[in-house]
Amino acid sequence: MKDINMSNLVNIREVGLRDGLQLIKTNLSTELKLSWINKQVSAGFTEMEVTSFVPPKLLPQFSDATDIIIQSNKIKDLKPTALVLNIKGAIRAIEAGAKKITFVLSASEKHNQSNVNCATDQSLSMFDEIIEISKDIKIEVAAAIATSFGCSIQGSVPEMRVLELAKEMAKMGASEINLADTVGYANPNQVKSLFSELKNQIGCTPMAAHFHDTRGMGLANVVAALQEGVRRFDATMAGLGGCPFAPGASGNIATEDCAYLLESLGFDTSVDFDKLLELRSYLSNLLPHEKLEGRLGFAGKAINFKNKLL
Ligand code: ZN
Repeated sequence: MKDINMSNLVNIREVGLRDGLQLIKTNLSTELKLSWINKQVSAGFTEMEVTSFVPPKLLPQFSDATDIIIQSNKIKDLKPTALVLNIKGAIRAIEAGAKKITFVLSASEKHNQSNVNCATDQSLSMFDEIIEISKDIKIEVAAAIATSFGCSIQGSVPEMRVLELAKEMAKMGASEINLADTVGYANPNQVKSLFSELKNQIGCTPMAAHFHDTRGMGLANVVAALQEGVRRFDATMAGLGGCPFAPGASGNIATEDCAYLLESLGFDTSVDFDKLLELRSYLSNLLPHEKLEGRLGFAGKAINFKNKLL
């Protein structure tokens, strides 16, 4: 599985507070969100997407975005990140003191129109402007390409279009290129093909992957991406999450299952599984109306599972 030329360290970025909370009915208070963040950090996580700078009128669950960034910045060993979709959101995130923002556009024109009400090329120009704005500020600006593997509105998304956008954003100064399977259409062959070509297009800019487990292919896609050198994965606790334009159950890959897979394959995630499973129980109380996914939460660790934290 492992390639001696590739790093053994894998970073799982918890995105449950953003992707996970985006669609659910429960509105968590700032205090409860911070308690989640603290528990996740004590389970070994160093990067979390803690909020989204979208109009509070559209998604009131993120109306505390500024406060969440300010408070998260005080947590030792954590790099809080925030999602932004336009210049206004980026400025709000910068003013709040975000250390890293992830700008999202969609490779599917129709998805971009539905999500942010403009053409993908207009989003691309916004990204360029955000890079300019952030030049003199100590902030990382990452790029995520939604619907990289297909779209529930448009259907197929040409690989060439994804690569073209990735190359352009890397050239503009993206700190990372994250390919997202927003609607859970990806399969491992497609993942291998796209990431293998992505490496050639973006040089040393780090690659990241964001998979949904809508059709049960999430972890298989993680393995395929690992084989192509991806070492950064988004995931959500208990597989929470979804996209408003993706019909059906559309949760992300579960953080706990993803970490378990990686450690089982010999990668180092720095995750403390006991604390992670405690956090999962905590979240099941916090979100009693949500259907929690993730196999590890139900089955627990295998008795012969070894990792350095045991
Ligand atoms: Zn997502």
